[in-house]
Amino acid sequence: MQEIVEAIQSGAPGEELANLPLPESYRAAVVLEAEQDMWEGVESGDKDPRKSLHIQDVTLPELAPDEAVIAVMASSINFNTVWTSIFEPLPTFGFLKRLGKESVWGARHDQPFHIVGSDASGVVLRVGSAVRNWRPGDRVTVHCNYVDDQDPSAHNDSMLAANQRIWGFETNYGGLAELSVVKANQLMPKPAHLTWEEAAVNALCNSTSYRMLVSPHAAGMKQGDAVLIWGATGGLGGYAVQYVLNGGGTPVGVVSSPEKGEILKAMGCEAVIDRKAAGYRFWKDEHTQDESEWRRLGKDIRALIGRDVDIVFEHPGRQTFGASVFVAARGGTVVTCAATSGYMIEYDNRHLWMKLKRIVSSHFANYAEAWAANQLICEGKVQPILSAVYPLDQTGEAAYQVHKNLHEGKIGVLCLAPKEGLGIDDPAFREEVGEDKITLFRRHGA
Ligand code: NAP
Repeated sequence: MQEIVEAIQSGAPGEELANLPLPESYRAAVVLEAEQDMWEGVESGDKDPRKSLHIQDVTLPELAPDEAVIAVMASSINFNTVWTSIFEPLPTFGFLKRLGKESVWGARHDQPFHIVGSDASGVVLRVGSAVRNWRPGDRVTVHCNYVDDQDPSAHNDSMLAANQRIWGFETNYGGLAELSVVKANQLMPKPAHLTWEEAAVNALCNSTSYRMLVSPHAAGMKQGDAVLIWGATGGLGGYAVQYVLNGGGTPVGVVSSPEKGEILKAMGCEAVIDRKAAGYRFWKDEHTQDESEWRRLGKDIRALIGRDVDIVFEHPGRQTFGASVFVAARGGTVVTCAATSGYMIEYDNRHLWMKLKRIVSSHFANYAEAWAANQLICEGKVQPILSAVYPLDQTGEAAYQVHKNLHEGKIGVLCLAPKEGLGIDDPAFREEVGEDKITLFRRHGA
């Protein structure tokens, strides 16, 4: 592995990388099937990813014709790794077993370990015989939409494909590892002005926010739209704020501390709500919501921007959904991709139908959307929101930070990159974009 890292560091040409032998095994962050019942009787918040995520040697699987082996320089923590590590809402081994039954190549994924991680930046080391557009030496990022391109249902919008999966969550061989095996149609060019770790944190959250807000497949935001963004300095929210600002809209960012409010201001988001300071209690008790609290949030939004929001960017789920439906403007849209605080949702349907609002679902992004979102990063129009960096050995600690909401933006994980700050191929463009903009979250997270 050392030889591979040195060759990458020294900018060795693709032919040289293609001729370096691949190791038979590599280090990866895994959860174990044998431990999937370890949290029985434990509350969600007390389940500790540091105990369930292990760094272990795994065997490099055989490469399918439509795949590539990537030297993963850096990866990131996504909330799906938190879900996998706490075995909620289900252990992910069921996904791997189902994939295992689909084909000979799918069978490789059904293992007693699950290599997690749905983001990566790195270098292509090998490509399968059917890969045309990528070759060894290409510097890439990886998006997590894993589809079978021989399935007709995958060809209009691949997120509607019958067997669409999220790599590193519903498949094995994820990105939190020294190597990864991915489909060639997950690859995208690495933004040349970013470090490995800055490049690694974007694909999942940036593409998801792009589809939710910008793509016609979800909210289809227009110029001038006002958008309420829950968790506005979180993984999804940090990109959502940028899309609203880039699209000529008005973001109203909800966060839970003055420090996070400062980050929003520095990003150019003027309208900030500190939900902790406001002390909203949307639920009186476990079963009853409080409409007066929804109304208070609505008033706070109007006090900041003078009107209601056209779009609500939803992902906290049960805790906030009733409020989100209430505060959306007449004819407005609640776009949802998740339910961190609970997926059995309650809202008052009268506020939805009488005011002609709509709820739109969204999930990751198809290749075209992920590519468009990646291109915006490459062009310096959307910035990475990397706030902290951990070594692969401390993946459990990094996931713990996200599980406990102790982080801002995205947490990067160094896999083969020996230290931070490496991988910048276009320093002149970096200067043009501006170090301040690129490292805004890192400086706050440091
Ligand atoms: P994240 O980095 O943890 O950020 C989420 C933010 O939401 C937090 O920073 C927090 O901000 C806020 N939040 C958490 N609980 C809340 C609550 N009860 N009420 C109000 N705000 C709350 O996570 P993320 O990467 O943005 O992901 C968020 C969710 O989306 C996760 O459940 C994840 O699994 C899901 N997701 C889905 C997709 C998809 O494709 N479907 C893609 C990415 C993520 P404050 O404390 O500052 O308010």
